[in-house]
Amino acid sequence: MNKVHFVGAGPGDKELITLKGYKILTEADVVVYAGSLINKDLLDYCKEGCELHDSAYMNLEEITEVFVNGIRAGKTVVRLQTGDFSIYGSIREQVEELAKYDIGYDCVPGVSSFLGAASSLGVEYTVPEVSQSVIITRMEGRTPVPPLESLESYAQHQTSMVIFLSTQGIEKVVEKLIKGGYPEDTEAAVVYKATWEDEKQIRGTLKDIVAKVKEAGINKTALIMVGRFLGKEYNYSKLYDKHFKHEFRS
Ligand code: SAH
Repeated sequence: MNKVHFVGAGPGDKELITLKGYKILTEADVVVYAGSLINKDLLDYCKEGCELHDSAYMNLEEITEVFVNGIRAGKTVVRLQTGDFSIYGSIREQVEELAKYDIGYDCVPGVSSFLGAASSLGVEYTVPEVSQSVIITRMEGRTPVPPLESLESYAQHQTSMVIFLSTQGIEKVVEKLIKGGYPEDTEAAVVYKATWEDEKQIRGTLKDIVAKVKEAGINKTALIMVGRFLGKEYNYSKLYDKHFKHEFRS
């Protein structure tokens, strides 16, 4: 039996889908796409007559029904999700529903927006000796966050942090980050619609980023990035150090 193909659409730019994802999309008979976030120009890759469903208007049962009907009719079914589905992709519940119908799935990864945003800014999250970890998180909204994952608790590490789904509450986010341990002069950036034509980048510090973001009128489809990786300080890596020998270089 056919499987449902979960495909990461990438962050926006229609060329940022993988070649493999693109190929499956061109072959699809049925596509369920996340219309609120993906670039609809990606649907131009679909063949004529491909059945398109915008999941923004559907609940889980309706999405499952489209999957099941498509698979039972022997069609190629694609679920096109924004960025990569492993980050806030609600993929788990979809595959669990499919399992109830004995329908399998496979996955083609996508470029997550936190990677698109780093590319747009031209930054490295893991600058040697500045930060070697990236925390991907969100503030609780209508979806709760487990209590052990508070922004305050993560802030004590003062490492690179990318905060999804939270720009609408940026005052509160910044308050928690400072309360948790980041100094006020820590660099911060907000990237709206990374890799889209109307992308916006706001750079500042925890002290002034809220005002700048409000002034720009950004409250959704954006990431909050925090940490000294956005600053001027850097160190050389061991990897390309001529005095440093490793497996491929002696
Ligand atoms: N699976 C997606 C995230 C889905 S959650 C991914 O891997 O990127 C939706 C949130 O992702 C948005 O609220 C926003 O915080 C972020 N987001 C998605 N696309 C974005 C983009 N192009 N630029 C900035 N943020 C984006």
